[in-house]
Amino acid sequence: MEALSRNFFLYLSKNQPLNKLANLYGIRMVKGKIVGGISFDQAIPFIRELNADGMSVTVDHLGEYVADPHTAVERAGEVVAALELIKEAGLDAQVSLKLTSLGLDISEELVRLNLRRILTAADRLDVMVTIDMEDSERCQKTLDLFQKLKADYQNVSTVIQAYLYRSNDDLEKMEQLQPFIRLVKGAYKEPKSVAFQEKRDVDTNYRKLIARQLDSGSYTAIATHDDRMVSFAKHYAFEKGIGKDKFEFQMLYGMRQQLQQELVKEGYKVRIYLPYGDDWYGYFMRRLAERPANIAFAFKGMTKK
Ligand SMILES: Cc1cc2nc3c(=O)[nH]c(=O)nc-3n(C[C@H](O)[C@H](O)[C@H](O)COP(=O)(O)OP(=O)(O)OC[C@H]3O[C@@H](n4cnc5c(N)ncnc54)[C@H](O)[C@@H]3O)c2cc1C
Repeated sequence: MEALSRNFFLYLSKNQPLNKLANLYGIRMVKGKIVGGISFDQAIPFIRELNADGMSVTVDHLGEYVADPHTAVERAGEVVAALELIKEAGLDAQVSLKLTSLGLDISEELVRLNLRRILTAADRLDVMVTIDMEDSERCQKTLDLFQKLKADYQNVSTVIQAYLYRSNDDLEKMEQLQPFIRLVKGAYKEPKSVAFQEKRDVDTNYRKLIARQLDSGSYTAIATHDDRMVSFAKHYAFEKGIGKDKFEFQMLYGMRQQLQQELVKEGYKVRIYLPYGDDWYGYFMRRLAERPANIAFAFKGMTKK
């Protein structure tokens, strides 16, 4: 049943007519619940609120699978503008982005140029940029680009997904770069040729990757809402004498707010992933695929002034 609803919502996440319909209804349903608004400006008060509560933020301009080169260049310009605003407004925030929003599916040169433009600004402004990981077909290209750019830029990190068999090897190959890595379980529907299908196996691999990345001494973001994974990371770090300054917990905006606050009180660094933009539909469907109970947020949002 759980797998059925997951597949259903993942299928809906790629449905273009429904995406258009969702945009017609506007963002009211999810703003301030799971996304920050349509523009970066609208997200600023939410970032300030999180910062005041002791949490850092990473913002993500929603909108993936861009097929037109002009839009991809425009999107790069928008990321640079967001980086500048973060600095100007003195926000404790970083930026996350998806390579398919910058032209990964159009041409390798285009996405590389767009990324260089963004990372040049990120280094100048000293704001970290994390390259989100998309589906497994794009994983190698993403890691190749990340590794090339990491040689030239300081403020870049990426994501490793525990459901992929390859992830332990990927961490090993990148170890000498001492990368800042966000570890996640993985959000896409992947075939069993490349990914663990059982939750138990994903969780086992996730623990293994947390241990490996913490042991490496490189900065680690443990991005999960799962109490058992949070608890594992806390205990592992404590037993190994790994300081709280060597890792952080990351959670999605609107999820597990009490847990976020408890972690802050315990002295852990917590970063909230805050998406914004009018293309919120696919993001919302992936969150429903993970946890259909998230739909409650949306229905509350529809009736809220
Ligand atoms: C900051 C951040 C960035 C991410 N970036 C990426 C990325 O770049 N690429 C990618 O593929 N995926 C990304 N993800 C998504 C990730 O891969 C998972 O799909 C998602 O986090 C769900 O897995 P989980 O570890 O939270 O727990 P799950 O395995 O989904 O759930 C385990 C348990 O955690 C608890 N739980 C989970 N969610 C909730 C909730 N909303 N409310 C209450 N309890 C809950 C429940 O007890 C549940 O049984 C990101 C996630 C986060 C938090």
